[in-house]
Amino acid sequence: MSFSSLGLSPQLLKAINALDYKSPTPIQKQAIPEILKGRDLLGIAKTGSGKTASYVLPILSNLKGNTTEKNRNINALVLVPTRELAVQVNEIFQQLSTHLSYPFKSMAAYGGVSINPQMKGLYGVNVLVATPGRLLELIDSKALITNKISVLVLDEADKMLNLGFKAEMDRIFALLPSQKQTLLFSATLSPEVQKIEQLLLQQPIVIKIEDAV
Ligand code: ADP
Ligand code: MG
Repeated sequence: MSFSSLGLSPQLLKAINALDYKSPTPIQKQAIPEILKGRDLLGIAKTGSGKTASYVLPILSNLKGNTTEKNRNINALVLVPTRELAVQVNEIFQQLSTHLSYPFKSMAAYGGVSINPQMKGLYGVNVLVATPGRLLELIDSKALITNKISVLVLDEADKMLNLGFKAEMDRIFALLPSQKQTLLFSATLSPEVQKIEQLLLQQPIVIKIEDAV
């Protein structure tokens, strides 16, 4: 099985090739076609199973045509628990978007560094990868507008909850449009993750990968 049978554009296939991904991992095989269709999704698979590309690729594909206007309306928001993960996920967005035929900009935002460059940098951003606390600061300072967000990703949701971000997450959820695609990824399906699933996901596809890849 190869990436070319998943419904991705030649531009994305070229970028996948450059990353030397030969074939999709099990979570990628199952998640990509469903996310392309616009479905909500709960993906449970252990660390190292390739969860990042399983949402980055279909998000890049679905954004097509919605990225031409430059403003502070972001199209997609990826919430992550740590600065390291924000940087890492943003890198994957940048690598996989290299050959797109439409304008695209992504950015990582996290605390512990000055907020001003992030406020400036947000102009024209389509996909923001952020930690919850800094995201709220950016929203409070009007550096981004949340009412055009059409995709929300919660990556490492279990870790985000374990680190005590529940209150921030709830505040963020309340600021997002109710009509959107929501993708929830976690290594474990804890009761807290299940609560978020019930709160946010509408008729989700549930993908659970039991084995290591
Ligand atoms: P997870 O989020 O599930 O922990 P990652 O998305 O971080 O996993 O991917 C783990 C590693 O596997 C990364 O180094 C990534 O570049 C690599 N990887 C992801 N998908 C593939 C693939 N289809 N083929 C080869 N390597 C891949
Ligand atoms: Mg991951």
